[in-house]
Amino acid sequence: MHNRYFFTFIATLAGVTVLANVVMFYISDDANEVIARFEQHWQEQADIILREAELLDDLEHQLSNVNTAHQVKDYLPAQPRPEVDARTTVALQIVAMIAALDLSEMERQALEQIKHYLEHIPTHSDSTISSTSETRTSEPLHSSQHQQLDSALQALRSGMEARIQTTRHQHQVALESVINKGSIEAWLLLSLVVILACAGAVVIRGQLRTIEERACLFNAIPDALLYCEYNGRITRVNQSCTELFGYGAHELLTMTVEDLIPVRFRELHRKERRNFSGRAQMRRKGENGLNIVGLHKSGDEIPLDIAIARTVLGQETYFVAVIRDIRPELQLQQKAELDFLTQVYNRGQIEQLLKDELSRAHRYQRSLSVMMVDIDKFKTLNDTLGHQVGDAALAELSGFLTVSIRPSDRLGRWGGDEFVLVCPEIGAEKALQMAERLVMAYNERNQYDLSLSIGVTSRAQVSSQTDVETLIGEADDALYQAKAAGRGRAVLFSGQ
Ligand code: GH3
Ligand code: MG
Repeated sequence: MHNRYFFTFIATLAGVTVLANVVMFYISDDANEVIARFEQHWQEQADIILREAELLDDLEHQLSNVNTAHQVKDYLPAQPRPEVDARTTVALQIVAMIAALDLSEMERQALEQIKHYLEHIPTHSDSTISSTSETRTSEPLHSSQHQQLDSALQALRSGMEARIQTTRHQHQVALESVINKGSIEAWLLLSLVVILACAGAVVIRGQLRTIEERACLFNAIPDALLYCEYNGRITRVNQSCTELFGYGAHELLTMTVEDLIPVRFRELHRKERRNFSGRAQMRRKGENGLNIVGLHKSGDEIPLDIAIARTVLGQETYFVAVIRDIRPELQLQQKAELDFLTQVYNRGQIEQLLKDELSRAHRYQRSLSVMMVDIDKFKTLNDTLGHQVGDAALAELSGFLTVSIRPSDRLGRWGGDEFVLVCPEIGAEKALQMAERLVMAYNERNQYDLSLSIGVTSRAQVSSQTDVETLIGEADDALYQAKAAGRGRAVLFSGQ
């Protein structure tokens, strides 16, 4: 779920970044275009103004030639009359060219005045009538005419200067507007990027916290967690797993799960793991009767309870194992089943075991014998040497019986100085022999000068009527007989 939000956010961020870049590109492109347009406009205006300046200069030149009284340029000599006519024509052409330019009303009026002046200069033909001299120059201007012409020319120059100023001002205003627009857009974009960056930081912080929490939880789980690939290679472990097996996390990540199992179980485990098809469901391996034993780095074997889930991530098959060290459970169980002083089964447990053996013997039609073992005159030992010595004698007897019986026999403390021995698949005769051997061996070995009396009862075939109480009662009767017969002996229950 978190991942979905995270990737959505990253996609949005990438989208906005692309958008921002496009907008930035558009802004810079737009600004470039505007600047190029301004440049072009400025160039055009500059050309016009330059042209106008040239024309004005030419016009002044021509006017100076036309009338020496109007010597704008003082170096010009007085001109002969035919040349004056030609210059007037040129001046009129220049006026026409200036008129073609984009002029203000004031400039047009000034130009009209100049034009009017030029048009009213007497021509060569006119002058031949009035004069005989070939070298006659144009008529000098009246002072008022001269002033008018001057102010007209001045007006044209002022107009040109004003246009320069106006164009410059227009450009300045336009440039400022482009810069302002660009700045506003850049600020908006910057704000957007900053907001998104902050949002990103918050999301990433949240994600990191989630990852941290998960890692923390993963490590805080008291059960060992182990992830492995289909080939058994370990890919992830939690802290409990490192503590359980004694390896560091880095060591475990170079190992396979089979390295954590005693050699004798490895092949079986490998087969089991490959055949395990549980998908996203857990199973407790111990319940299948498979002996689950782990191998600690020190070489110690650890009884384990394991639940496994098989899952597919992408193309890969993974196993997730939840592993629990059951030593504490076993210890508790032992505590509940064993007698604290003698470390053999307590009365409840031996009763249960006798019941189980009874039903098994009945099911498989096997023989079963039960013995009641009791120390003779134990009270006297307690009374003379004290209770602690009595306890030690009881522990010694349980130790003696434990090592003297077969692995399939069950031993439990019935109460006080009485012990019950359940011996499956032993008939009456053999059971009595065994009891006698125990009486003799104990006599020889115990360090408290004690003796044993044992009552034995046996069934060659266990019937459905036979129960725990009956057998215990019979063994107890036999024991009573052994005591009555002088102690230090074994007696087989005879039924009389
Ligand atoms: P008998 O030959 O007839 O069996 O004589 P006995 O003295 O052994 O008599 P009995 O079996 O009836 O007495 C059992 C005694 O065991 C009684 C009690 O003082 C002692 N006893 C019972 N439980 C314990 C124990 O946990 N520790 C010790 N030290 N003594 C115990
Ligand atoms: Mg006794």
